[in-house]
Amino acid sequence: MTAPARTRPSSAAGPRSSADLIRAEEPVLAHNYHPLPVVVAHAEGTWVEDVEGRRYLDMLAGYSALNFGHRNPVLIDAAHRQLDRLTLTSRAFHNDRLAQFAESLAELTGLDMVLPMNTGAEAVESAIKVARKWAYEVKGVAPDRATIVVAADNFHGRTTTIVSFSTDETARAGFGPFTPGFRVVPYNDLAALEAAVDETTAAVLIEPIQGEAGVVIPDDGYLTGVRELTRRAGCLFIADEIQSGLGRTGTTLAVEHEEVVPDLLLLGKALGGGIVPVSAVVGRRDVLGVLRPGEHGSTFGGNPLAAAVGSAVVGLLETGEYQSRAAELGVVLRSGLTALVGRGVESFRSRGLWAGVDIDPAIGTGREISEGLMREGVLVKDTHGSTIRLAPPLTITGEELQSALGALEKVLSQGV
Ligand SMILES: *Cc1c(COP(=O)(O)O)cnc(C)c1O
Repeated sequence: MTAPARTRPSSAAGPRSSADLIRAEEPVLAHNYHPLPVVVAHAEGTWVEDVEGRRYLDMLAGYSALNFGHRNPVLIDAAHRQLDRLTLTSRAFHNDRLAQFAESLAELTGLDMVLPMNTGAEAVESAIKVARKWAYEVKGVAPDRATIVVAADNFHGRTTTIVSFSTDETARAGFGPFTPGFRVVPYNDLAALEAAVDETTAAVLIEPIQGEAGVVIPDDGYLTGVRELTRRAGCLFIADEIQSGLGRTGTTLAVEHEEVVPDLLLLGKALGGGIVPVSAVVGRRDVLGVLRPGEHGSTFGGNPLAAAVGSAVVGLLETGEYQSRAAELGVVLRSGLTALVGRGVESFRSRGLWAGVDIDPAIGTGREISEGLMREGVLVKDTHGSTIRLAPPLTITGEELQSALGALEKVLSQGV
């Protein structure tokens, strides 16, 4: 028996409009996102263009996956060259790109060893496994008793284990039973952290700046405190820099603002240059060294295309140019936002080219402001009701940044 033919709108009538494409998604695409009603068809640098040819300044940059801009020519060239040569081997064999990628990433971060994976969530999962194994084999924690201490309002990804220690009910509800072994303490609270760490603790896992929570920046001294506390307690410090890392905050890593070196560093998003998913756990040899053949892996992790793009990303960061741009333009962003405080902006937090902006609820929700900005040709994303997040590609010019701030001022002053 053959399946009944399903009727689909025909594309014979010519190219489909944005409205048609949005309608077409509804019955066939899982509803796990609520995107802004813009259908992007092309992009270059800081700009995207929709199906009808309208242009928008991208002030989200794929949640920092596009730190180097859309279709960065250096990265696209590296990908093209690799596509013409070798794309996938699996780790059953060596490939001729992986050594350079690992060497350059270790060098860039000042750490020893790299475990290549694909998505951010996979890097987090991998670090959890490594930390547990380290706790049993090196620290001597009793079997199956290892704990990992995390911060409230964290965002580390979407797997069942990771949502097990989320404090966001929307991310958790309906997905239990959850993985045990996690303790949640308030962010930016060293006393609470100290109280939660004990002889079972394998690691403290935190974001040096909490991105999804609304670009929440801890007090000066917090990261240093976490470093000292974990060293004293004999547990690992795992820094999730999947969103904060790779130039975003004006330094290669956000932990550099306090000159702190974690034991394990999690990278993702921008590591794939906006082209392919590339993530990594980077760490000390005596920690990542606990993994032996067969204990962990990924079919696509460390594939030659990912390694080629990842190496090219590291190459861009080695110049320091992107970090400097983020630091310099971060001053422009900060002063522009400061001028809007009390004029539609309640408060904001920023570091480098990254800001969480709390909108006066009397003016509109974060979503409404995002829609208003979209009509002004600027794309942003709201988070937690009344906050919008600004994170443009680090390639943005001062004029483009000013025009985005001008659009925000306009939307806030005319209301939504
Ligand atoms: C995005 C993000 C992740 C998850 O990355 P995915 O590639 O979406 O799995 C983990 N941690 C942080 C801090 C992130 O911002």
